Amino acid sequence: MPRLPRARLAFTLLVGVIGWGALVAWTLAAPSTAAPHLGPVTFGVFLLVILATRVMAFRIVPDSVLSLDTGFHVAASAALGPLAAGQLVAFALTIDSLVRFVGARHRRGGERFAYVLYFGGLTGALVAWSAWLVGPPTDLHTELEVTWRVLAIGGVLLVVHNAFQGVRQALGGRPLTAFLRTQALPGMVAELALLPLAAVVVVLYHGERMLGFALLAGTYVLINLVFNRLSRTSHALRARVRELEILDTTARGLASSLELPELVSTVARETLRAIPSAETMALVHRGAEREVDRFVVDSYDRDRDEFQRMRIGRTDGAVGRVVAEQQPLALDDQPDGVRSWLGVPIFLHGACEGVLVVQSRQAGAFTAQDRRLLESLALQVAAALENAHLYEMAMVDGLTGLFVRRYFDARIEEEIERSRRYGTPFAVVMMDIDDFKRLNDTHGHLAGDRVLRDVATIVKQQMRGVDTAARYGGEELALILPRTELVSALNQAERVRVALADHRVATGDDGPVLAVTASFGIAAFPESGAQTAEELVRRADRALYRAKKSGKNRVELYWSDDSGGHTALTAN
Ligand code: GH3
Ligand code: MG
Ligand code: MG
Repeated sequence: MPRLPRARLAFTLLVGVIGWGALVAWTLAAPSTAAPHLGPVTFGVFLLVILATRVMAFRIVPDSVLSLDTGFHVAASAALGPLAAGQLVAFALTIDSLVRFVGARHRRGGERFAYVLYFGGLTGALVAWSAWLVGPPTDLHTELEVTWRVLAIGGVLLVVHNAFQGVRQALGGRPLTAFLRTQALPGMVAELALLPLAAVVVVLYHGERMLGFALLAGTYVLINLVFNRLSRTSHALRARVRELEILDTTARGLASSLELPELVSTVARETLRAIPSAETMALVHRGAEREVDRFVVDSYDRDRDEFQRMRIGRTDGAVGRVVAEQQPLALDDQPDGVRSWLGVPIFLHGACEGVLVVQSRQAGAFTAQDRRLLESLALQVAAALENAHLYEMAMVDGLTGLFVRRYFDARIEEEIERSRRYGTPFAVVMMDIDDFKRLNDTHGHLAGDRVLRDVATIVKQQMRGVDTAARYGGEELALILPRTELVSALNQAERVRVALADHRVATGDDGPVLAVTASFGIAAFPESGAQTAEELVRRADRALYRAKKSGKNRVELYWSDDSGGHTALTAN
């Protein structure tokens, strides 16, 4: 990529220098052929109109502005002669692009400055050249002659000027067809539409009768103003419609994401779609654990398609500032190479409970509109986070942090669906702590609770991210292992069993240290032959029963030919 803009820069400079060179050479060669009527007033009126149309330039595509000044360039060339018009246009456009250059927030180095040289030089030289090529009207009062010459000069000028612009854009990597379709053709059509008016300007132009000319010049400016307003309104409307569309789809996406991991990826996807100039986004929130002094930062990198999670203090860095000030914050040039950083607070019940962040390695990547959009998104994210939290409270068991049985029941139905559709097997493991009643009776319920919590922690540690662990009953847990065959499930259950058997539970400051074991029963789908979730659980339960009967602290499998009578493979 970096080679192309350099070619464009060279082209821009070269054309600018040649354009100015040609104008200067012509001026030096023919110093005495100044236009007969070119007094300061005439010059001033032409200059004023051209500058006014430039000021009212409007956007047709994001990267290009259009102003309908060609008609007036042509009018100037017919009225004042090729050279004087070329000088006038070069001067006017240089002033215009110089003002834009100085006013531009982000000057892309020499490129924009070269453009100042290029734009005035090229356009001025082309105006002079095309007027010279067609030849000025011999009599300004012959309407027909003036009209065809104005049309001819305008046509030549538009085509050649757009050709240069097209080459320049192509050197910058923009496809020629895109340039033609979105910029050159609509621009030429609009400019051509004003050429008849330019012809009338020339017909009315007369050194002694300035009024008609001046009135028409005013009309010309007015037409530009109308175009400008229309284009602004339509852009504002289009932007607003796009915003509403985005918010509508995000609302839908977020509403269907009840679990935190899914919510995080939905927020990432929707935020980056809403703000395409962002390369990374981060959802800073309190996480499932709802820690009071720390935030979970879930970030997503679009280029690497990668999620990352880390934790930070509530008051750390830019996020800390957003939380403290409860205001959106935009920062430039962060130490980590981020050149644009934008964060907006996420409010829950009136308190700032998180931050939604977008980042870019480009400077000035985010507009005021992006900021508004991000704030609207943050409102939706807040509601979704709240829903996810409520969902979690309803679905997660308070003592163990495992899912409740209701959740398990729903998940297992989903898994059967998925397995039927994609033909992938999955396994269900039922496990029950051995002799728990005795443990409770001997050491008390509190010690029992502690054991239960430890068991849950160990189970969670041994599981993969896709697995689901639920508290099925009092001290009975149930696991769903997606995409797992019976034998792999046996290995996983074995790992849990051994980890439990090796673990010792500390029951308090001077309480006893307890050993704990559990028994496991496994049934796989579709291997077990079960047709429904209920049947599948019952079959796993039957294997568990057998594990208890044959000595506890062991894993039993349910085989499809399992009549329940004989003892299946045990893992002990
Ligand atoms: P087995 O090896 O056959 O499973 O024997 P067991 O004593 O574990 O028998 P069972 O599974 O029937 O016992 C369940 C006991 O678990 C009953 C109850 O006291 C205890 N229990 C169930 N839920 C909880 C709980 O939340 N906390 C505590 N501390 N105990 C619980
Ligand atoms: Mg038990
Ligand atoms: Mg039990």
